Amino acid sequence: MKELSHWINGENVKGKSGRFADVFNPATGEVQAKCPMASAAETEAAIANAAAAQPAWGATNPQKRARVMMAMVGLMNRDMDKLAEALSREHGKTIPDAKGDLQRGLEVIEYCIGAPQMLKGEFTDDAGPGIDMYSMRQPLGVVAAIMPFNFPAMMPLWHVGPALACGNAVVLKPSERDPSVPLMLAELFVEAGLPKGVFQVVNGDKEAVDTLLDSEIVQGVSFVGSTPIAHYIYSRATANGKRAQCFGGAKNHMIIMPDADMDQAADALIGAGFGAAGERCMAVSVAVPVGDATADKLIEKLVPRVEKLRVAPYTDGDDVDFGPVVTREAKERILGLINSGVEQGAELVVDNRDFSLQGYENGFFVGPHLFDKVTTDMDIYKTEIFGPVLSVVRAKTYEEAIGMAMDHEYGNGTAIFTRDGDTARDFAHRINIGMVGINVPIPVPLAYHTFGGWKKSMFGDLNQHGPDSFKFYTRTKTVTARWPSGLKEGGEFHFKAMD
Ligand code: NAD
Repeated sequence: MKELSHWINGENVKGKSGRFADVFNPATGEVQAKCPMASAAETEAAIANAAAAQPAWGATNPQKRARVMMAMVGLMNRDMDKLAEALSREHGKTIPDAKGDLQRGLEVIEYCIGAPQMLKGEFTDDAGPGIDMYSMRQPLGVVAAIMPFNFPAMMPLWHVGPALACGNAVVLKPSERDPSVPLMLAELFVEAGLPKGVFQVVNGDKEAVDTLLDSEIVQGVSFVGSTPIAHYIYSRATANGKRAQCFGGAKNHMIIMPDADMDQAADALIGAGFGAAGERCMAVSVAVPVGDATADKLIEKLVPRVEKLRVAPYTDGDDVDFGPVVTREAKERILGLINSGVEQGAELVVDNRDFSLQGYENGFFVGPHLFDKVTTDMDIYKTEIFGPVLSVVRAKTYEEAIGMAMDHEYGNGTAIFTRDGDTARDFAHRINIGMVGINVPIPVPLAYHTFGGWKKSMFGDLNQHGPDSFKFYTRTKTVTARWPSGLKEGGEFHFKAMD
């Protein structure tokens, strides 16, 4: 059995706690590796190593730090196939999805090449008589990133890239479900020229996380994962005086107006609802057609498309639509929620509860499911299912539809499909959700904008990537300076010297 390591001071280091988590191959259900769970002492040692490495890295000029990012881009592109294969093997997503995961992470590393520009600071000449004032952005020191399973490359890179570019040292705690790609990325960073020790990977669970949250050395905490844990981490980190940004779960609504292009809307829902088996925080899990006629048309178009989806292991070729979910517990939880939907009165119009794949009977596959006539009091509406399940909730009017999305506790992403500019503009202005798509089902902002939700999808102030990330990973210092010699004398002296 393969035993994974931590990545400490630029080397693979075996776990010493004697505790391990199973890393599955979700397609077969087999345990393919053991992931060490760091003890508090191992985590503290990694934090201390990061603290020792940070001052020299923080003092390295931003352009040299940017060159590490530039080299990293080249290395990730060189190893793209290898990284994607490792990612799919542990996560279960298809190779094109794994490459998308890596690519969206890579784009943030590309953005970080602009660190010298982002970190320039501000200057006021003659703020008073002979007085200059300037503000600079300095790294926080050691920061921690605690990441989810669903984007094992993208999520760590969104945080590690900007944190390093700003001159911090990072302790990353990846998901114990799929830790191999984060370890490979850490190794690539060293090859790219990152000094050893500046980036540590500590594998683990609550014990490692709590050690990071309570450490007096760790100055900032970034978390991405489910809402209850996001809230817990935000509360504990901020109670300990740390800066924190914690991103949580989602229930993304897509509103379909009667004037929408129905084929386009149905195609969009297939990709956004079922891609990556629905294990995306930006997945559309609720479709809200406005009016019964729109709903009937939509269902008519969705059913054959959902029935055609090909669910198979990533090794089965390029026409696989999605693979298994991440663990057996996830599969059971999703099937339990589907059953609750049926019991609570929703119409299961595509029912794959008995889905099984020949040769992969022990894999964690869940077939695609489509519900119609879901109501807002049902568990399948209130809960983030995080599986290949799309719920259609019928609204009578636009007001009812927008109200539904606004009343939901989550506020990560949303979309509207319409041909009417007025409605689209009203929606974008009024909706209390962080990321909005207009005829775009998954409105993930690119690296140079920021990514983050509202309501229970985000705890904190500053978003992921874009300009916010450079603010999050630095603190501002403002200097007011007056020189005792006085401006006039200095000027005259300078003039004389030139004669
Ligand atoms: P999770 O909350 O179970 O785990 C996330 C991280 O927290 C992991 O590293 C895990 O080891 C750690 N953790 C789990 N329980 C803990 C505890 N009790 N104490 C301390 N640490 C703990 O989330 P997940 O299942 O890995 O990821 C899926 C979730 O992430 C979904 O809810 C999804 O919507 C969300 N997500 C959100 C965003 C976003 O930007 N808002 C992006 C991706 C994923």
